[in-house]
Amino acid sequence: MGNKNISSRFRRLRQNQPLRDMVCETQLYPKDFIYPLFVIEGDDIIESVESMPGVYRYSVDNLDGILSEVNESGISGVLVFGVPAHKDSRGTEAYNKDGIVQKAISHIKSKYPDMIVIADICLCEYTDHGHCGLVCRDEILNDETLPLLAKMAVTTVQAGADIVAPSDMMDGDVAAIRRELDKNGFINTPIMGYSAKYSSAYYSPFRDAAGSAPGFGDRKSYQMDCRNVKEGLREIENDIAQGADIVMVKPALAYLDIVRAASDRFDYPLAVYNVSGEYSMVKAAAINGWIDERKVVTENLTAMKRAGAKIIITYHALDMAKWLKEEF
Ligand SMILES: [Zn+2]
Repeated sequence: MGNKNISSRFRRLRQNQPLRDMVCETQLYPKDFIYPLFVIEGDDIIESVESMPGVYRYSVDNLDGILSEVNESGISGVLVFGVPAHKDSRGTEAYNKDGIVQKAISHIKSKYPDMIVIADICLCEYTDHGHCGLVCRDEILNDETLPLLAKMAVTTVQAGADIVAPSDMMDGDVAAIRRELDKNGFINTPIMGYSAKYSSAYYSPFRDAAGSAPGFGDRKSYQMDCRNVKEGLREIENDIAQGADIVMVKPALAYLDIVRAASDRFDYPLAVYNVSGEYSMVKAAAINGWIDERKVVTENLTAMKRAGAKIIITYHALDMAKWLKEEF
């Protein structure tokens, strides 16, 4: 006997897994994911990043194991970060055509021509002061930094990068890079802008991985204030106007409201970066047995896609791809 007062029985479609799967609105696929890869100058190195369990820095000669894993996982590709042996005030190694990131990219593309290789474009891993731009008397210079970023973009594309992704948060970076790429004949290379990149405490494990902690001050004069939504949307709008092909919100989990707003407003592929601190919190809790890692990661990544992300950059990429394959 049904209770006439209950007009909607939502539970009808929640009765079993096949029914739930049939009506589910969000489905993750391995191809949604990009795996960040740290490549370090030197020989025969596989170093664990202490604050990011399961993440390593590889020398180029030791990349093949992880590359074959990426290749078999079905994820879309990798986002490459270089850790140079030598740092200076101008970040010279960032745009050296024989620099660590350029060598790594050309190695990856020679082994796996179909793997999407994205070059992170920024100076902070290469400068001795750890800032994303040139520095003069404790000020981070904007316009003077742009030609160096553009130069780095050209050298990484010459090495084989399929996409360049400026993460520096200098104003005008996308336009400067677009101009220089076009001038060098790379009119077909897409730019993925780190458009709404917030100044975030969630980045600290990454700085351990890439050795890029700022030597003085913080990044608040160029990265965004976490209290702002509208400004994030203006940043994205501006990156599109400058010629970005893909836009991004970073970090992901604490910023899903920005992801949703961006996805509703802009008809461009939207990426999110599920950053190091978000990863490490989950790993730490999982290692302690406090949460079910697989279920929490699946829920977190599903939430990013549900909020409107098309591309998810995450250190969980390889695990998630493996779990998805087990499901099917
Ligand atoms: Zn940077």
